[in-house]
Amino acid sequence: MKTIIRGALLALLVVGGAAHAQDDEFDVGALIDRVVAAYGGEALTEMRNYEVVEAYIGPNLGQSWAPELADLNKNNLRLVHDIENGRAYFESYFKARGGIFPNLIIVNGEEAWTVNLQIGRYGEANSADPYTFGGGTMRTTDTLLARQLHAAREEAEYLGPASWLNRPHETVKIPFPLSPDLTLYIDAETHLVTRMTRDNPQLGALDYVFDDHVAVDGLMAATRVYFSVAGDPNLIGTGRTVRFNRSLDDGLFRLPANTEPEGERIDTSEMVVNRLASNVYHIGQNGGYSIFVDTGAEVVGCGGYPGLQDRLEKFHEATGNRKRLAYQVVTHHHNDHLGGIDEALSLGATLVTVDDTVEVIRDTSQLEPESGRFLTVNDRMTLGAGRDRVEIYDVSTIHSRSNLLFYVPATRTVFMADHFGSPYATGVPAANRNTVSMAEALGALELNYNRIVTAHNARVYTARDFVRSVESFRDFDCPDDRPLCSR
Ligand SMILES: [Zn+2]
Repeated sequence: MKTIIRGALLALLVVGGAAHAQDDEFDVGALIDRVVAAYGGEALTEMRNYEVVEAYIGPNLGQSWAPELADLNKNNLRLVHDIENGRAYFESYFKARGGIFPNLIIVNGEEAWTVNLQIGRYGEANSADPYTFGGGTMRTTDTLLARQLHAAREEAEYLGPASWLNRPHETVKIPFPLSPDLTLYIDAETHLVTRMTRDNPQLGALDYVFDDHVAVDGLMAATRVYFSVAGDPNLIGTGRTVRFNRSLDDGLFRLPANTEPEGERIDTSEMVVNRLASNVYHIGQNGGYSIFVDTGAEVVGCGGYPGLQDRLEKFHEATGNRKRLAYQVVTHHHNDHLGGIDEALSLGATLVTVDDTVEVIRDTSQLEPESGRFLTVNDRMTLGAGRDRVEIYDVSTIHSRSNLLFYVPATRTVFMADHFGSPYATGVPAANRNTVSMAEALGALELNYNRIVTAHNARVYTARDFVRSVESFRDFDCPDDRPLCSR
C-alpha cells in the first residue's frame, strides 16, 4: 500500500521537520476500508456473483454514416458473472443503422462460446476471460469498482483531494485488468464512488459518472450511469438493474437450444500472412488487416488499423524487397480505421481518400499533414499501370456514405472494410444490412473479382462465400423469449 503526503500539508512538513511525517500521511488503507463499509462490507469483499442489465443510448461518435452528423444507436446488455464458479454470461443487442447486432457469450467454467442468435450457430469464444467481454460493463458499475479498489489495495495510489459536483472527494488510482489505470472519485462524506476516469491512448479522457446510488441486496449501486469520451457524452444509461449474490439459473450457462457449431476459429494471436500473388499480400493480426501490392516501383496499401508499420514490415520480409509505401488508401472515415494513418504518414505515404475523410484525418492526426499528402478520389482512380495496377472505387452503403474499395485486377481480389466476414476458417459468414448494401454497390461495378479479403478478418474469402452470405441474409427480429432485445 502506498501512502502519499497530501500536497497541502507538504509545506508544513518541510517547516516542521520529518518528525511529524507519520501523523500527516494520508491513510489510503483507511479510506478503502470506509469505501468497503459504505458498499456493504463482506457482501462486497466476499461477492459470489452479480448481474448488471443496462439500456444505453448514445451517439455513434467516430462511426457515423457521414462525418458531419453523429447518428444515434442503442445498446441493451446483460452481464451475469458467477465469480465463485468461474462462469459468465454476456448478452447484448447493438441497434444502429446497420440493423440489430446480437451478441451472446457464455463461459461455463470449462468452455467459452460465442453464439450468433441471428443464424443459430455457435463457435469458440475469442477469450474465456470475463474482463475481455465484460470489462466495459464492470467499469460502468461503481460497486464493482469498489470491489476492485479493495482487491487492488496494495497498489492503490492516493492522488489527493478534489471537488466533484461541488462536493469534497478523494481521488485514488488503481490498476484494472486489460485497461489503463482507473482514477476513482470517492465522496469524502458518503464514501461512494461518483466518478471514474481513465485515459485511452487514441480517444483521450474517458469519464464515467455514477448517480442515484441505492441499496440493493445488502450492497450499494448507482442506478444512473453516463460515459463520455473526451468530454462528449457517448453512453447515456436509460435503465439499469443490478443484483448481487442471488441464486443463479444453471440454464443460463448452457448453449441455447437449436444451435449448430461453427467451423474452427482462426488463430490470429500471431501475424497472419496471406500470399495472394508474389507481389500481393493480405497481412494482419487479431482484428486489424491490410492489403499491400507491389506495383513495380512502389507499394500501395489499404487497411488503416494501428500496427500498419508492423504489417508493412512483414510484407517487406515476404517479398524480399523494401520498396516504400507510396500510397495508403483510407477505406472510410471511421476512427478505428484511422488508427494507423499517422504510421502511414510517418512512412512518407500519400493518403488516398475522399474530401470528407480529409477533414476527419486533419482532426485526428497528431502530425498535421499538409494538403500535398492527400490524393482525393472522385468516383474511381488507378494507381500503378498495366498488369500490376490497383483500381480504387468509391461506393456508398448503409455503413458509410463513402467507402473506398481496393481492387487488384491481376489477382481478381477486392479488399473491403466492415461489410463482410467472420472469425471462422469455414462456413458462410452471417450477413447484415451492411453486407447487403455492399453487395448492391459492388455488383454495380461489374468487377471480375473472385476473392475478397477484409480489414477485420484473417480469412481469404471466395466470391461464392460473399454471394452465399448475402443470399442467406434475414433481418434480425427480436425473439419473443429475449425481452432484453426489444427494450
Ligand atoms: Zn466502419
